Amino acid sequence: MKDCLFCKIIAGEIPSRKVYEDKRLFAFEDIKPQAPTHILIVPKQHLETLLEISDAHNELIGSVFLAASKIARKQGIAQSGFRVVANCNQDAGQTVFHIHFHLLGGRPMAWPPG
Ligand code: AMP
Ligand code: ZN
Repeated sequence: MKDCLFCKIIAGEIPSRKVYEDKRLFAFEDIKPQAPTHILIVPKQHLETLLEISDAHNELIGSVFLAASKIARKQGIAQSGFRVVANCNQDAGQTVFHIHFHLLGGRPMAWPPG
């Protein structure tokens, strides 16, 4: 998708600090981390919001959570704990309209989120 920040990062046209990649996903460090570990797990397929997910994406979305636990183990936050967050549209604070899952950890987190 032309003019999509995350499509450009996945294509290597914009640099990122990659931590994981497989055939469906690309994961890299968030540029403005909100926790000691803050990684974005991004499907390679350009979908603008969670609302575009359909039955056709079951394997893709399953793979996100498998990747999240693999990355959490590798980053050393699996036992202390971590959070996986996806923001959809304005009230949730979505700023990049290519779906992504925030993997956050390395500090205690409050609930409910702000
Ligand atoms: P959201 O607000 O849920 O749409 O999340 C977008 C995330 O992308 C934010 O946490 C930003 O800090 C992050 N972000 C924006 N630009 C970049 C970039 N060039 N490299 C890495 N992370 C980025
Ligand atoms: Zn995109």
